[in-house]
Amino acid sequence: MRLILLGPPGAGKGTQAKRLEERYGVVQIATGDMLRAEVKSGSAIGREAKAIMERGELVPDSILIGMLAARVQAPDVQKGFILDGFPRTVPQAQALDGMLAEKALPLDQVIELKVDDAALVERIAGRFTCAKCGEGYHDRFKAPKVGGVCDVCGSTDFTRRADDRAETVAARLEAYHRQTAPLLPHYAAQGKLQQVDGMAEMDEVTRQLAALLDRKPV
Ligand code: ADP
Ligand code: ADP
Ligand code: ZN
Repeated sequence: MRLILLGPPGAGKGTQAKRLEERYGVVQIATGDMLRAEVKSGSAIGREAKAIMERGELVPDSILIGMLAARVQAPDVQKGFILDGFPRTVPQAQALDGMLAEKALPLDQVIELKVDDAALVERIAGRFTCAKCGEGYHDRFKAPKVGGVCDVCGSTDFTRRADDRAETVAARLEAYHRQTAPLLPHYAAQGKLQQVDGMAEMDEVTRQLAALLDRKPV
């Protein structure tokens, strides 16, 4: 399975990609997570990306395309992948098309998670993550079962992203509409684009995605 999950910040791409990873045994490739790891390690890429990410802008295409090209060579990716957060610009999509054509690994589907901007602001503002195992949570929509304790690993240490502040969210939504939304016609023209209602509750979104993914290609 080779899938792109498209959608604005906070649409639920990461949440759903993790569930699909388990269900289908493929790997999630999340460029935001990869960049945050670079920032944390203080690498050259991380030093360049940090301030850009904090402003809610997109990191240069050349960096992302290089990162992705390296990642799709890895042995674990040969069985399939779910791209989460890449591509985000038309040049990134064109580079990806070229990379996959060269390897004869065509994309199966591109699925857009559709969510209203107003709902995104609330989703992003309430998002937090277990610092130990990475499980994602939300103050209102997915609070830990026991307050302050991770359901999965029992850790009491949680983090919030530096770019999930209200001031940055508007810039990220603007970047999405201006630079990423043009990918929708790009993939529609290839006959690969489908949509899922990302406003539905998490389990329902998973069901709708699985229904599209389980449908046999014609
Ligand atoms: P979101 O939860 O908003 O979808 P991500 O974790 O995917 O966020 O991305 C966080 C930030 O990392 C973005 O705002 C951007 O600065 C940078 N980033 C991630 N992926 C890309 C990409 N494909 N191209 C450019 N910048 C990216
Ligand atoms: P993305 O990766 O697209 O930026 P996330 O998967 O991180 O989005 O989801 C953003 C926040 O919204 C998280 O706190 C997550 O728990 C929550 N969330 C995800 N899907 C839903 C949903 N269908 N309904 C309500 N909240 C959701
Ligand atoms: Zn945990």
